[in-house]
Amino acid sequence: MTAQLIDGKAFAADLRARVGEHAAAFSEQAGRKAGLAVVLVGEDAASEVYVRSKGKATVAANMESFEHRLPADTSQEELIALVEQLNADPAVDGILVQLPLPGDLDEQAVIAAIDPGKDVDGFHVESAGRLMVGREGFVPCTPLGCIMLLRDRHGDLSGLNAVVIGRSHIVGKPMAQLLLDANATVTIAHSRTKDLPEIVRRADIVVAAVGRAEMVKADWIKPGATVIDVGINRLMPAEGESKGRLVGDVDFAGASEVAGAITPVPGGVGPMTIAVLLRNTLVAAYAHAGLEAPEGL
Ligand code: NDP
Repeated sequence: MTAQLIDGKAFAADLRARVGEHAAAFSEQAGRKAGLAVVLVGEDAASEVYVRSKGKATVAANMESFEHRLPADTSQEELIALVEQLNADPAVDGILVQLPLPGDLDEQAVIAAIDPGKDVDGFHVESAGRLMVGREGFVPCTPLGCIMLLRDRHGDLSGLNAVVIGRSHIVGKPMAQLLLDANATVTIAHSRTKDLPEIVRRADIVVAAVGRAEMVKADWIKPGATVIDVGINRLMPAEGESKGRLVGDVDFAGASEVAGAITPVPGGVGPMTIAVLLRNTLVAAYAHAGLEAPEGL
């Protein structure tokens, strides 16, 4: 392997520790802890794991965690009533509704019900609009984590060619906007893009957010490029394995012989998401308390 490994796990641990220290100072100043409410509807096993780890990380960062578990047959009205109750609760600074929602529940309507000042996931249309027009607001955690890793590696991203593969509202689009705001020259690729390998070959920065195991091949990567792999894909179990390996959207073994730097999966982008969620929650708490958030949070 010739590429430098971008250690998202270590970076996220530092960020969580920093947020934890600031959160302790916040409770001294504000006379209460910052609080994050997580709402889980139904019993999706993966969501259950995420919610549990978010709860643990919140408490470890000196913040209050409020978990709300609702049955899968919860109605739209009941779910929105809970969101409204959390909007009105002064102990709650951030609200996260774990997606996907089961059954016929309308995700857009539920997200729209969240107070934009508590939208720490950054999925509300007001947050998306603020990002688009360059106003302060909450940015989705995964792309914000990616840009932190990129800034840490490159410092200034001005003039670099960046290709984002994927155009979802939660990763691809906000990622492209953040890169644009950082003065990179940005191309957004998707399932209808022609000659994707050729486009990726021009990129100094590649962000892969597709959801297809090891789709991005080593010979697509420009030598020395920085590769951020957002994908989380589970392979079929090999013989003797009880579950398949987790891999990203990039052929890690091959790409790490060509790239200048690369995130592993797991241990790259993944751990950044919760760390940034805690950071966003603390930023919300400072705003709710009418206090200035510390520099560099
Ligand atoms: P979506 O399924 O919402 O979006 C996938 C995007 O990839 C779409 O824009 C789609 O294009 C594009 N795409 C699909 N096939 C191709 C192809 N063959 N060539 C080029 N582009 C293609 O996924 P998400 O954005 O939600 O997530 C992407 C990946 O990131 C997933 O593996 C997910 O698990 C992971 N993820 C990881 C997180 C973390 O680390 N914490 C958080 C969130 C996601 P089109 O729009 O044309 O359909």
